Amino acid sequence: MSLGKPGHGREPLANTTPDACTATRRQLSDYIEEELASLKRARVENHLRECLECTAMVNGLRNIRQLARQADLIEPPQGFSQRLRWLLTCLEQ
Ligand SMILES: [Zn+2]
Repeated sequence: MSLGKPGHGREPLANTTPDACTATRRQLSDYIEEELASLKRARVENHLRECLECTAMVNGLRNIRQLARQADLIEPPQGFSQRLRWLLTCLEQ
């Protein structure tokens, strides 16, 4: 799904400067929670269209968020957190 504009020539990637990435990343969590005003949202989406790194970050955040939601919905089996803590303690050693 491309949005108009035939792809002739290269547009300058002003949208993917390190500053733009930093500004975008600061807004990513709001973006995936869909709390951004539409103007900011459009700006983030614009950046994501041109920046693979930030797109990958959004995908990662979405996955984590989904996992967190599932963890909320599903009652953990008895002793789950104890086992988890035990596992973490093992890993730290
Ligand atoms: Zn970026």
